[in-house]
Amino acid sequence: MPLTLTTVPCLQDNYAFIVGNHDTREATVVDVPEAAPINAALVAGGWTLTTVLLTHHHWDHIDGLDGLDARASVKVVGAARDAYRLPPLDIAVTEGDQIDVLGERVSIIDVSGHTIGHIAFHFSDSKLAFTADSLMALGCGRLFEGTPAQMWDSMQKFKTLSADTVICSGHEYTQSNARFAETLDPDNSDLISRIEGIDAARAAGEPTVPTTLDMELRTNPFLRADDPALKAKLGMKNASAADVFAEIRGRKDRF
Ligand code: ZN
Ligand code: FE
Repeated sequence: MPLTLTTVPCLQDNYAFIVGNHDTREATVVDVPEAAPINAALVAGGWTLTTVLLTHHHWDHIDGLDGLDARASVKVVGAARDAYRLPPLDIAVTEGDQIDVLGERVSIIDVSGHTIGHIAFHFSDSKLAFTADSLMALGCGRLFEGTPAQMWDSMQKFKTLSADTVICSGHEYTQSNARFAETLDPDNSDLISRIEGIDAARAAGEPTVPTTLDMELRTNPFLRADDPALKAKLGMKNASAADVFAEIRGRKDRF
Protein backbone atom coordinates (compact mmCIF):
# COMPACT_ATOMS: atom_id res chain seq x y z
CA MET A 1 0.00 0.00 0.00
CA PRO A 2 1.41 3.41 -0.89
CA LEU A 3 2.29 5.74 1.93
CA THR A 4 -0.23 8.34 3.10
CA LEU A 5 0.56 12.05 2.70
CA THR A 6 -0.78 14.75 5.02
CA THR A 7 -0.03 18.44 4.43
CA VAL A 8 0.36 20.47 7.62
CA PRO A 9 0.18 24.28 7.35
CA CYS A 10 2.62 25.94 9.76
CA LEU A 11 3.56 29.52 10.68
CA GLN A 12 2.47 32.14 8.10
CA ASP A 13 2.92 30.23 4.87
CA ASN A 14 5.09 27.15 5.53
CA TYR A 15 4.17 23.51 4.98
CA ALA A 16 5.33 20.42 6.81
CA PHE A 17 4.36 16.98 5.55
CA ILE A 18 3.50 13.79 7.41
CA VAL A 19 4.18 10.59 5.51
CA GLY A 20 2.55 7.58 7.12
CA ASN A 21 2.64 3.83 6.70
CA HIS A 22 -0.89 2.50 7.14
CA ASP A 23 0.16 -1.00 8.14
CA THR A 24 2.54 -0.03 10.94
CA ARG A 25 0.94 3.37 11.81
CA GLU A 26 4.47 4.77 11.83
CA ALA A 27 5.14 8.15 10.28
CA THR A 28 7.89 10.51 9.27
CA VAL A 29 7.72 14.32 9.12
CA VAL A 30 9.43 16.37 6.45
CA ASP A 31 10.58 19.71 7.92
CA VAL A 32 9.42 21.15 11.23
CA PRO A 33 8.56 24.87 10.97
CA GLU A 34 6.71 24.71 14.31
CA ALA A 35 5.76 21.84 16.60
CA ALA A 36 2.14 22.44 17.66
CA PRO A 37 0.29 21.84 14.36
CA ILE A 38 2.49 18.83 13.60
CA ASN A 39 1.93 17.28 17.04
CA ALA A 40 -1.81 17.81 16.60
CA ALA A 41 -1.85 16.28 13.10
CA LEU A 42 0.11 13.24 14.33
CA VAL A 43 -2.43 12.67 17.11
CA ALA A 44 -5.36 13.22 14.75
CA GLY A 45 -3.96 10.69 12.29
CA GLY A 46 -3.07 8.16 14.98
CA TRP A 47 0.56 8.18 13.83
CA THR A 48 3.67 7.20 15.77
CA LEU A 49 6.48 9.50 14.69
CA THR A 50 9.78 7.69 14.07
CA THR A 51 11.79 9.94 11.75
CA VAL A 52 12.23 13.59 10.83
CA LEU A 53 13.64 14.49 7.41
CA LEU A 54 15.20 17.96 7.17
CA THR A 55 15.65 19.60 3.76
CA HIS A 56 17.84 22.55 4.79
CA HIS A 57 18.99 24.60 7.72
CA HIS A 58 16.70 27.65 7.56
CA TRP A 59 14.93 28.31 10.86
CA ASP A 60 11.47 28.06 9.31
CA HIS A 61 12.19 24.41 8.45
CA ILE A 62 13.84 23.21 11.67
CA ASP A 63 12.78 25.33 14.65
CA GLY A 64 9.89 23.07 15.70
CA LEU A 65 12.06 19.99 16.14
CA ASP A 66 12.64 20.20 19.89
CA GLY A 67 8.95 20.81 20.53
CA LEU A 68 7.81 17.56 18.95
CA ASP A 69 6.11 15.32 21.50
CA ALA A 70 8.07 12.34 20.18
CA ARG A 71 11.40 14.25 20.05
CA ALA A 72 13.24 11.80 22.31
CA SER A 73 12.52 8.80 20.11
CA VAL A 74 12.83 10.22 16.59
CA LYS A 75 15.78 9.81 14.27
CA VAL A 76 16.76 13.01 12.48
CA VAL A 77 17.95 12.81 8.87
CA GLY A 78 19.74 15.69 7.11
CA ALA A 79 22.56 16.59 4.76
CA ALA A 80 26.05 15.66 5.94
CA ARG A 81 27.48 18.82 4.38
CA ASP A 82 25.04 20.90 6.44
CA ALA A 83 25.53 19.00 9.70
CA TYR A 84 27.39 21.98 11.17
CA ARG A 85 24.28 24.16 10.98
CA LEU A 86 21.48 21.60 11.35
CA PRO A 87 20.22 20.12 14.62
CA PRO A 88 22.24 17.01 15.63
CA LEU A 89 21.74 14.35 12.93
CA ASP A 90 21.23 10.65 13.57
CA ILE A 91 21.59 9.90 9.87
CA ALA A 92 23.76 12.21 7.72
CA VAL A 93 23.16 11.76 4.00
CA THR A 94 24.69 12.86 0.71
CA GLU A 95 23.58 12.98 -2.92
CA GLY A 96 22.76 9.54 -4.27
CA ASP A 97 22.31 7.89 -0.89
CA GLN A 98 19.34 5.60 -0.49
CA ILE A 99 17.89 5.19 2.96
CA ASP A 100 15.00 3.15 4.30
CA VAL A 101 12.10 5.24 5.61
CA LEU A 102 8.87 3.51 6.73
CA GLY A 103 9.89 0.43 4.76
CA GLU A 104 10.33 2.37 1.53
CA ARG A 105 13.52 3.32 -0.31
CA VAL A 106 14.17 7.05 -0.29
CA SER A 107 16.77 8.67 -2.56
CA ILE A 108 18.66 11.79 -1.57
CA ILE A 109 19.02 14.46 -4.24
CA ASP A 110 21.33 17.44 -3.74
CA VAL A 111 19.37 20.48 -4.92
CA SER A 112 21.67 23.32 -3.91
CA GLY A 113 20.79 26.85 -4.97
CA HIS A 114 18.49 28.32 -2.29
CA THR A 115 21.19 27.16 0.12
CA ILE A 116 24.31 25.10 -0.50
CA GLY A 117 23.46 21.70 0.91
CA HIS A 118 19.68 21.82 0.43
CA ILE A 119 18.47 18.28 -0.27
CA ALA A 120 15.28 16.74 -1.61
CA PHE A 121 13.83 13.37 -0.55
CA HIS A 122 12.40 11.13 -3.27
CA PHE A 123 10.11 8.22 -2.35
CA SER A 124 10.13 6.52 -5.75
CA ASP A 125 7.53 3.82 -5.02
CA SER A 126 4.99 6.25 -3.58
CA LYS A 127 6.04 8.89 -6.15
CA LEU A 128 6.55 11.64 -3.62
CA ALA A 129 9.30 14.27 -3.83
CA PHE A 130 9.90 16.67 -0.95
CA THR A 131 11.49 19.70 -2.55
CA ALA A 132 10.99 22.43 0.12
CA ASP A 133 12.62 25.65 -1.14
CA SER A 134 14.18 24.25 -4.33
CA LEU A 135 11.43 23.42 -6.85
CA MET A 136 8.22 25.10 -5.63
CA ALA A 137 4.69 25.24 -7.01
CA LEU A 138 5.08 27.50 -10.06
CA GLY A 139 8.38 28.77 -8.72
CA CYS A 140 11.70 28.03 -7.14
CA GLY A 141 13.44 29.22 -4.00
CA ARG A 142 15.36 32.47 -3.85
CA LEU A 143 19.12 32.10 -4.35
CA PHE A 144 20.54 32.92 -0.93
CA GLU A 145 23.75 30.93 -1.31
CA GLY A 146 24.00 29.26 -4.70
CA THR A 147 24.35 30.52 -8.25
CA PRO A 148 21.65 30.46 -10.94
CA ALA A 149 23.64 27.73 -12.72
CA GLN A 150 23.55 25.58 -9.58
CA MET A 151 19.80 26.00 -9.17
CA TRP A 152 19.23 25.22 -12.86
CA ASP A 153 21.27 22.08 -12.36
CA SER A 154 19.03 21.18 -9.42
CA MET A 155 15.88 21.86 -11.47
CA GLN A 156 17.12 19.47 -14.15
CA LYS A 157 17.47 16.67 -11.63
CA PHE A 158 13.72 16.85 -11.01
CA LYS A 159 13.06 16.54 -14.73
CA THR A 160 14.38 12.98 -14.61
CA LEU A 161 11.68 11.85 -12.14
CA SER A 162 8.48 10.29 -13.42
CA ALA A 163 5.96 12.94 -14.50
CA ASP A 164 3.29 11.78 -12.04
CA THR A 165 5.56 12.45 -9.06
CA VAL A 166 3.84 14.55 -6.39
CA ILE A 167 5.89 17.68 -5.64
CA CYS A 168 5.70 18.71 -1.97
CA SER A 169 7.24 22.16 -1.60
CA GLY A 170 7.75 24.20 1.53
CA HIS A 171 5.67 27.37 1.18
CA GLU A 172 2.36 28.75 -0.03
CA TYR A 173 3.89 31.17 -2.52
CA THR A 174 1.94 29.92 -5.52
CA GLN A 175 -0.35 32.87 -6.11
CA SER A 176 2.48 35.41 -6.26
CA ASN A 177 4.48 32.97 -8.40
CA ALA A 178 1.46 32.84 -10.71
CA ARG A 179 1.32 36.63 -11.06
CA PHE A 180 4.97 36.51 -12.16
CA ALA A 181 4.68 33.47 -14.44
CA GLU A 182 1.85 35.03 -16.44
CA THR A 183 4.05 38.00 -17.31
CA LEU A 184 6.52 35.67 -19.02
CA ASP A 185 4.18 33.17 -20.55
CA PRO A 186 0.76 34.77 -21.19
CA ASP A 187 -0.10 32.47 -24.10
CA ASN A 188 0.47 29.22 -22.19
CA SER A 189 -3.04 27.78 -21.92
CA ASP A 190 -1.98 25.23 -19.28
CA LEU A 191 -0.66 28.10 -17.19
CA ILE A 192 -3.77 30.23 -17.62
CA SER A 193 -6.11 27.44 -16.55
CA ARG A 194 -3.82 26.52 -13.67
CA ILE A 195 -3.88 30.12 -12.44
CA GLU A 196 -7.69 30.08 -12.41
CA GLY A 197 -7.51 27.00 -10.18
CA ILE A 198 -4.91 28.62 -7.93
CA ASP A 199 -6.93 31.79 -7.48
CA ALA A 200 -10.07 29.75 -6.71
CA ALA A 201 -8.21 27.58 -4.18
CA ARG A 202 -6.76 30.60 -2.39
CA ALA A 203 -10.10 32.41 -2.35
CA ALA A 204 -11.49 29.30 -0.60
CA GLY A 205 -8.53 29.24 1.82
CA GLU A 206 -7.22 25.96 0.40
CA PRO A 207 -3.57 25.07 -0.15
CA THR A 208 -2.13 24.90 -3.67
CA VAL A 209 0.60 22.51 -2.50
CA PRO A 210 1.34 19.71 -3.30
CA THR A 211 1.34 19.71 -7.09
CA THR A 212 2.65 17.28 -9.71
CA LEU A 213 5.84 17.28 -11.73
CA ASP A 214 3.81 17.05 -14.93
CA MET A 215 1.98 20.28 -14.05
CA GLU A 216 5.25 22.00 -13.17
CA LEU A 217 6.90 20.90 -16.42
CA ARG A 218 4.08 22.47 -18.40
CA THR A 219 3.71 25.71 -16.44
CA ASN A 220 6.65 26.52 -14.14
CA PRO A 221 9.00 28.94 -15.92
CA PHE A 222 11.91 27.88 -13.71
CA LEU A 223 11.74 24.37 -15.19
CA ARG A 224 11.36 25.67 -18.72
CA ALA A 225 14.52 27.78 -19.20
CA ASP A 226 15.45 25.43 -22.06
CA ASP A 227 12.07 25.80 -23.80
CA PRO A 228 12.61 27.43 -27.23
CA ALA A 229 9.29 29.29 -27.11
CA LEU A 230 10.00 30.78 -23.68
CA LYS A 231 13.57 31.66 -24.71
CA ALA A 232 12.26 33.46 -27.77
CA LYS A 233 9.74 35.40 -25.66
CA LEU A 234 12.60 36.61 -23.47
CA GLY A 235 14.62 37.61 -26.52
CA MET A 236 17.21 34.97 -25.58
CA LYS A 237 16.83 32.49 -28.44
CA ASN A 238 20.51 31.60 -28.60
CA ALA A 239 21.35 31.87 -24.91
CA SER A 240 22.17 28.86 -22.76
CA ALA A 241 19.43 27.47 -20.55
CA ALA A 242 21.47 28.44 -17.48
CA ASP A 243 21.60 32.06 -18.68
CA VAL A 244 17.87 32.04 -19.39
CA PHE A 245 17.25 30.62 -15.93
CA ALA A 246 19.39 33.40 -14.42
CA GLU A 247 17.36 36.01 -16.32
CA ILE A 248 14.06 34.54 -15.12
CA ARG A 249 15.28 34.32 -11.51
CA GLY A 250 16.54 37.93 -11.70
CA ARG A 251 13.22 39.19 -13.05
CA LYS A 252 11.37 37.38 -10.26
CA ASP A 253 13.63 38.98 -7.64
CA ARG A 254 12.75 42.42 -9.01
CA PHE A 255 9.05 41.62 -9.56
ZN1 ZN B 1 14.57 28.24 3.12
FE1 FE C 1 11.62 28.33 3.72
